[in-house]
Amino acid sequence: MKRAVFTLSLDFELAWGTLDRGRDAFYRPLCRAEREQAITRLLDLLAKHNIAATWAIVGALFEDGADDLLHAPDLIDEIQRCPVAQEIGSHTFTHPVMTMVTREQAHRQFSLAVESAAKAGVQPRTIIFPRNQIAHLDLARDYGFTCYRTPEPRWYCGAGERDAVSRLGHLADVLAATTPRTVEPTIDEFGMMAIPGSMLYTPSFGMRRHIPASLRVTRARRGLMEAIRNRKVFHLWFHPTDIVVNMNEMLAGLDEIFALVAKYREAGELEVQPMVNLRSALLKEMEASSVSTCVGAGALASAGVLS
Ligand SMILES: [Zn+2]
Repeated sequence: MKRAVFTLSLDFELAWGTLDRGRDAFYRPLCRAEREQAITRLLDLLAKHNIAATWAIVGALFEDGADDLLHAPDLIDEIQRCPVAQEIGSHTFTHPVMTMVTREQAHRQFSLAVESAAKAGVQPRTIIFPRNQIAHLDLARDYGFTCYRTPEPRWYCGAGERDAVSRLGHLADVLAATTPRTVEPTIDEFGMMAIPGSMLYTPSFGMRRHIPASLRVTRARRGLMEAIRNRKVFHLWFHPTDIVVNMNEMLAGLDEIFALVAKYREAGELEVQPMVNLRSALLKEMEASSVSTCVGAGALASAGVLS
């Protein structure tokens, strides 16, 4: 790539993300704080530093309904009114683990997600799969999705996001402030862009509330420097729910990270791109290089650039 890129993706789900876990008494107050404070304060920070993020939104949140932790058209409106235009992507319609659903259910998830977003005038292009469990990509493409996030490369081999090995491995990374992996987007066999995450801005609830935000900032700084050195992407991601415990400290940490991003951008060393823009930039570069080298024409054809 010509220049390093900072990408930020946010999984916005309120209570949908934890419905299958039970433990309402634990999660609902977190979602309440997310609804009442975190979204607005996060948007203020994004506007302050002129950062366009990708919001992967659970489709049901676009709908009106009595439970305001399962429905939030007002908050989506707020995101759309942010002075710095934000990308509105999808996080499916009701947040099932997509590797566990039938093809018919996958159809329904994608079609309802697209229909609900259309009510807010949006055609989502980015899909972020619940728990990063990727499946039914061919269907996603048929519903107009063009990019998705893949799990961050890691040295430990836990089976999923939540098993003990993954949690301990992730905790070790955070405590040692290891440099997160910088990543490169690729075009897959469906012509969709796959972009791995680099770093989760570690949630502040549970035991992890004892981890100072400064360790998260140190890791992010290292990731940004590495991206600039190697002209790669530093892809930060989290759920707004992740910042509600110690909210002031967690937001101050993000403020520091975004200020660094803005500083490097002003110096011409870094670009800020939501996921969907990253795909168009990548295709343009592939097109330019295929003209000079005739390499990658197959991938470009399947991505609809050459036909
Ligand atoms: Zn989720």
